[in-house]
Amino acid sequence: MTKKILTLVISIMISGSISAQDLIARQAPIDKKLNSVDSLALQQQIRTEMAEQQAVDIYPDWDNNTIRYNNAVIPDTYTFNLTGFSMPTSNTRITDVFGYRPRRRRMHDGLDIKVATGDTIVAAFDGKVRIVKNQGRRTGYGKYIVIRHNNGLETVYGHLSKQLVVVNQEIKAGEPIGLGGNTGRSTGSHLHFETRFLGIPINPALMFDFDKQDIVADTYTYNKVKQAVKGGATLMGDNIYYKVRKGDTLSRIASRQGVSIDYLCKLNRITRKTILRPGQVLRCS
Ligand SMILES: [Zn+2]
Repeated sequence: MTKKILTLVISIMISGSISAQDLIARQAPIDKKLNSVDSLALQQQIRTEMAEQQAVDIYPDWDNNTIRYNNAVIPDTYTFNLTGFSMPTSNTRITDVFGYRPRRRRMHDGLDIKVATGDTIVAAFDGKVRIVKNQGRRTGYGKYIVIRHNNGLETVYGHLSKQLVVVNQEIKAGEPIGLGGNTGRSTGSHLHFETRFLGIPINPALMFDFDKQDIVADTYTYNKVKQAVKGGATLMGDNIYYKVRKGDTLSRIASRQGVSIDYLCKLNRITRKTILRPGQVLRCS
């Protein structure tokens, strides 16, 4: 980082035709210049590099098999830089939204976008391919891909007819990664698209506007407390508590609270198989 900033500062000095002798005399104008015109670019650069560094550090491990993380420490808040995005598909029609579906009594962890079989699907951001797998018709995703991005997000692309990348492959935003399809638990060809943070599904519609083919804003901030309270939990002191309701499952609660199932289990000393009683109180942070 330091080297790049230094280069930037030097280039500002050169472009301003300032010699070493009158540098001190002109110090004030330089500072002013830095603060106004060029500081935006500089700040942006620092922010991007810091975000990339954070993203590398925040994930507990790199594995090519499972989407969720068992040992992730979830920060209270985290901001993703979305500016280097590419829309995964040029198709705009959403056929199913994110969230809990009472009719099926399960969570839909992503967004469904109508695509034709064979349509090109591209990477949403720069990153590295973590998973390239195939799940059967009964279990879900079909042919799918998971990419970890430099901005800290992970994206999932499901029901593909063909995968065009291999695990551990470095990828750029907009590069083709697969072709749309109808594999796995799917009726009619579509792209199942997920955005996740440390395994926790976040509604992609909060970041991507498929209709406008644009991002919703330059950044998205994940906030553990906000997500928990929105999901029906209560903040007491520094901790978040959730009172189990009829029909709740661990996966539903975890998704709504913005934490992983394993995190909930660990915190409450229960297992994935524990039967929840309505009225029971779970600690969520
Ligand atoms: Zn879906």
